[in-house]
Amino acid sequence: MNRVRLIVFNAALGILDYRVPEGMQVEPGSVVIAPLGPRQVLGIVWEPERLEAQDVPAEKLRGLLEALPVPPLKSELRRLIEWTADYYCASLSSVARMALGSMAALRGGGTTTEYRLTGLEPSRLTPQRAAAMDALQHEQASIRELAELASVSEGVLRGMVGAGLLEPVTVDLDRPYPAANPNHNAPALSDDQRRAADTFVEAVNADAFAPFLLDGVTGSGKTETYFEAVAAAIAANKQVLVLLPEIALTENFLRRFEDRFGVAPIQWHSSLKSSERRRAWRAIVKGPANGGAQVVVGARSALFLPYARLGLIIVDEAHEVSFKQDEGVRYNARDVAVIRARFEKAPVILASATPALESMQLAEAGIYRKIELPARFGGAQLPDIQILDLRKDVPDRGRWIAGPLVEQMKLRLERGEQSLLFLNRRGYAPLTLCRNCGHRFQCKHCTAWLVEHRFSRRLACHHCGHEEPVPEACPECGANDCLVACGPGVERIADEVAELFPEARVALVTSDTMNTPEAIAEFVEKAEGKAIDVIVGTQLVTKGYHFPDLTLVGVIDADLGLEGGDLRAAERTYQQVAQVAGRAGRGEKPGEVLIQTRHPEAPVIAALAAGDRDAFYTAETEARRDAGAPPFGRWAAIIVSSEDLAEARDAARAIGGTAPDLPDMLVLGPAPAPLSLLRGRHRFRLLINARRSAELQKIVRAWLSPLQFPRGVRVHVDVDPYSFV
Ligand code: ADP
Ligand code: ZN
Repeated sequence: MNRVRLIVFNAALGILDYRVPEGMQVEPGSVVIAPLGPRQVLGIVWEPERLEAQDVPAEKLRGLLEALPVPPLKSELRRLIEWTADYYCASLSSVARMALGSMAALRGGGTTTEYRLTGLEPSRLTPQRAAAMDALQHEQASIRELAELASVSEGVLRGMVGAGLLEPVTVDLDRPYPAANPNHNAPALSDDQRRAADTFVEAVNADAFAPFLLDGVTGSGKTETYFEAVAAAIAANKQVLVLLPEIALTENFLRRFEDRFGVAPIQWHSSLKSSERRRAWRAIVKGPANGGAQVVVGARSALFLPYARLGLIIVDEAHEVSFKQDEGVRYNARDVAVIRARFEKAPVILASATPALESMQLAEAGIYRKIELPARFGGAQLPDIQILDLRKDVPDRGRWIAGPLVEQMKLRLERGEQSLLFLNRRGYAPLTLCRNCGHRFQCKHCTAWLVEHRFSRRLACHHCGHEEPVPEACPECGANDCLVACGPGVERIADEVAELFPEARVALVTSDTMNTPEAIAEFVEKAEGKAIDVIVGTQLVTKGYHFPDLTLVGVIDADLGLEGGDLRAAERTYQQVAQVAGRAGRGEKPGEVLIQTRHPEAPVIAALAAGDRDAFYTAETEARRDAGAPPFGRWAAIIVSSEDLAEARDAARAIGGTAPDLPDMLVLGPAPAPLSLLRGRHRFRLLINARRSAELQKIVRAWLSPLQFPRGVRVHVDVDPYSFV
């Protein structure tokens, strides 16, 4: 029996059969190299009975070229890959790809050469060399990566090697990681925390699937509590995966982890250097012992890695929508984490102060076990929340901070306490127009206004990344000095604070200013050291941070999130405001929150003001039930796009025209997407609303697979969508 079936990493093909040559050992999960026409492809050996492939006669089969020296993907992971591809209507190869590191990681072993500064300080330097010397302090990486870090050419750096300013260092690619010590610095837990931690530890030791919802108010010490489960897993020689919704939260996590366990965890995210990625991947495959990976903290892509012995998964800030991937395989890492835990027979902890309605419902139904931490640690009180009605307290013209909030900020400055102003909008102003002719600056490639960034003096599209300099004159009418900024972004709020309180030290926290670990670490250090009086930030500052002297939070525009009008708008607003409010009063001094709104009567705002979480969840649950929306009904979207408008429209109509007529499923559209042009592609959407009884994925596959489209058309299915643009 020397025939094998592979998932090959080729978008057009997918499943192919090969012959195993004499002397080669493979089994399901083995990673191999196979010939494909004149080229070579990577493939994973799979159980043939689980995949359908074309029937190729034995004599026509080509032989595998090589079995790579990595352990086969375990059956638990293979089942997860199948489940994910099936559930999200994606190809097996696009899911399986996420399990593999780079080609270099698969080959493994060996050494590489990295470079670092020698410390030599010549008297004269070219400006480029001087810039490189500045940028590369404490860095060690390949020439290419250093060139990127320092924004100079590789040639400049090679010249510096020749001049003795940079030196080569030989690095063992698979060098072991230092071991975490589960007892390094264990905190004394409160009674509530202890109870929760004991439950988690018991689950870790039980080697069984156990999903938990850790529902704890902001500042209750959820991290300290689940760290006990992490400690138990480390002690039992099992691996732990901690998923965070965004890289910006990693810095803070790393620090706390190191305080608790003595060493840093292994990181996995998109901005790792290639050598770090390779080392991490190999350590993950190796298992927890002997310098392998014990604890991995990562973004959602860490979920599909081939852990040798996964014994616990934690999804922190589990309500965050960024766990949902919006391109490629459109999976929700929070949900797939639970499925992975089920296959691995391990506990999974979803931690949040504002759980998603879906998670609450699953806890209600008894599927998740809910563990509550109802009080802040150390007796800190939850902040007092007040509504600031912008219709009554109208800010001055061109200003966005209303009088009562200004008063409170002034008070904080006098007392030497900190304030935080939250507005979830990057840049200076969301819209720029010409006072003379009314011209509005729009993205060339998208249905979107360009956002002015004063910081970088550019107009930027937040959808495609297109940027252009802010022009001197209006491109339409040619008038000079005629551009007006409409509406506020965080940069404008920071300006306003500077005008109101010239003596205040203001920190602007957005993904534009805080885009490196160093920048984040510097901000945290300053904020903790009381070198900042006012923080102005986007959603980036709503989570994770703990600044004891922060006693005032101002929400600049609570209505912003409600405008989009999608079905989760109220929930998202609730979560964001509750999270940012949760930054106030975490120390000994009580916190106060002012929410600026034009709709104090909106149920979500009223619930926030009343601090009545249950009322909010109850009302929202009923609204979802009435609408047949998740978690009571299911949604899937079909997104059709093409560079050619007519082609996209025709394809969308063809899909709409063949929609199945079923009693438990309703198809809406096609309609032009709200973002009808994105990166130069015209977009149409269909939305499917199905009862839970409908076999949604099966129906969608049967519906779409017979349809043929012109080459330029792309059709994506988004199961359980979070984005409706
Ligand atoms: P949450 O994530 O629930 O908002 P954190 O885990 O950030 O809360 O905890 C809030 C603060 O209280 C942190 O500074 C944390 O270090 C501290 N803390 C929580 N529990 C303990 C404990 N048992 N002992 C000492 N400090 C704790
Ligand atoms: Zn754009």
